[in-house]
Amino acid sequence: MKHLFLTCLYMVTALFTMAQNEDSAFINRLSNEILLNSQAYNNLRVLTKTIGGRLAGSPQMVKAEQWGLAALKAAGSRDAYLQECMVPHWIRGGKDAAKATYGKMSKNLDVIALGNAAGTMKPLTAPVLLIRSFEELERRKEDVKGKIVFYNYPFNATLVKTFQAYSDAGRYRREGPSRAAKYGALAVIVRSLTQSTDNNPHTGSTAYNDSFPKIPAVAIGLHDAEWLSKQTAEKNFAVTLHTHGRFLPDTIGHNVVGEIKGSAQPAEYITVGGHLDSWDNCEGAHDDGAGCVQTIEILRAFTALGYKPKKTIRFVLFANEENGLRGGNKYAEEAKEKGERHIFALESDAGGFTPRGFGFTLSDAQFEKLTSWQKLLAPYGGGEFSRGGGGADIGPLNRLGGTPVAGLQPDSQRYFDYHHARSDVFEAVNKRELELGAVNMAALIYLVDRYGL
Ligand SMILES: [Zn+2]
Repeated sequence: MKHLFLTCLYMVTALFTMAQNEDSAFINRLSNEILLNSQAYNNLRVLTKTIGGRLAGSPQMVKAEQWGLAALKAAGSRDAYLQECMVPHWIRGGKDAAKATYGKMSKNLDVIALGNAAGTMKPLTAPVLLIRSFEELERRKEDVKGKIVFYNYPFNATLVKTFQAYSDAGRYRREGPSRAAKYGALAVIVRSLTQSTDNNPHTGSTAYNDSFPKIPAVAIGLHDAEWLSKQTAEKNFAVTLHTHGRFLPDTIGHNVVGEIKGSAQPAEYITVGGHLDSWDNCEGAHDDGAGCVQTIEILRAFTALGYKPKKTIRFVLFANEENGLRGGNKYAEEAKEKGERHIFALESDAGGFTPRGFGFTLSDAQFEKLTSWQKLLAPYGGGEFSRGGGGADIGPLNRLGGTPVAGLQPDSQRYFDYHHARSDVFEAVNKRELELGAVNMAALIYLVDRYGL
């Protein structure tokens, strides 16, 4: 009896080892295919250099959709299609400008209007009130009326995982304008969400609270933020802001979707994607051209190797992540309406940097199962698995349908140097780092396709 048990155990272990050997061989083929023949870098060059910044509703976004459709077809999905959704249409409307003055002294400040913010339309001049935190805003609420509030809340340098510093300081960009408007501020200047050593301002969406006036808001580069905070601590500086942002009526946008039909369980869907829109002040190379070209590359590599997935795999370039999330919402709503069974979704939206691993939002049992795959990904750099994570565009799949989701986690030290700033250009992306991200994503998609969760 004991002998039989040991024989069975031996056989199960042997089968498991054989499967893992087969998987590691296939992942190696995927890696070689991508590292030798990838189109990701060239696709990124075309997207960023011939189309450039592509905010929802812009003519560049329309071009990007056509580019994405052609790229997905060329990579192996002949039936790639556009999925329509209504998107907000915010325009910057002109060049954002700011000047600080004190007596005869004046200095131009490098600023950029926050996305979705109202413009000043004509130049707006007011004294500056330096505020270092929301707690200080509450203490000084009597001083706010008639001022331009300057939030100089720093991106916390002690947080090694930079996304934590982003979500911490991000409150000032999102909530800062309305919190200041509540006490009568005329406009807001927000310290850029970065610890970069240059002076580029970083835009990003703000969100007004409808209970208060929608006041203009800009982000300021770090050199100028330091200068302004020193000056305003001693002297009563005024700032003149001139911005032009406004909304046009909602317009039609599209998710761009490629697909490989499943050979064994076609009614089970796996989604992999990034977002095609970007801010208008940059080329959107790391955010999120990288995620888009990695997504297309996985399709190309599967096709090149003749891989026939068991489940249906969707390759999605999402619309309007930056200032509305309408693309991600539409994708999840339609999946729900059609009763599609989405078993997993993966997004790359943290930059095209060296992959470290993945963050997962799923059950304990599912995470436990995944951990046996870490050693298969470790040789390619993506073996660090952690709890929590996903992506803005696939979040609605998780919220509406309970789909397990994951996000590629590249090294995060340089991401916020470029994020939403004019420096987020093609030249900031390293070809090999970009490709290694695609290798690890492709491997994870393959494993989920083969074994489920
Ligand atoms: Zn992004």
